[in-house]
Amino acid sequence: MITIQDKQFEDFISSVEITEMVSSLASKISEDYKGQIPLIIPVLNGSFMFAAELIKQLTIECEVEFAGVKSYKGIERGKSSTGWLTIDNYSILNGRDVIVVEDIVDSGITMNKIVSNLLVHSKTVKVVTLLYKLNKSVFLPDYFGRELDDEFVVGYGMDYNGFGRNLTDIYKLK
Ligand code: 5GP
Ligand code: MG
Repeated sequence: MITIQDKQFEDFISSVEITEMVSSLASKISEDYKGQIPLIIPVLNGSFMFAAELIKQLTIECEVEFAGVKSYKGIERGKSSTGWLTIDNYSILNGRDVIVVEDIVDSGITMNKIVSNLLVHSKTVKVVTLLYKLNKSVFLPDYFGRELDDEFVVGYGMDYNGFGRNLTDIYKLK
């Protein structure tokens, strides 16, 4: 068990299990994209650790372009318009096979919009997420490491109030 700020989190997914999930995802993707050169877009900040380990294990050629999710909080009060990535020039996507890398899909609303926006420019778009809240999500990822119930998790890139991203295991809120 660990404490981060005011909350307690219990052990959930060990770094050994994470490594197995990442290896299995990397081999599926390498197989499916054989002969292609996908453009991989990790969605910051949460996916940085997962993306780094996944990409290291791909046996295909690829390009990588990190992006954040644009948020207009504070400009349009009370509204947060997500669904656009912080890519300066969407023409880099033209004709490309895009793989979006996400840490966790919760409601799936963000990823739904991101994928439909990317599809306007790219040839194909697939999504790989480490974790997937099956019963909550309106979005079905193409690849996922593990399904979750409605649990709040931290570690391995994922944060609670900005903390916990450096943890090598994944913990869930008690
Ligand atoms: P969605 O649009 O699918 O509801 O939101 C997905 C985003 O919310 C994820 O990319 C992630 O950044 C954040 N998120 C969702 N669930 C969790 C969770 O259990 N823990 C953490 N740390 N972030 C989460
Ligand atoms: Mg995320």
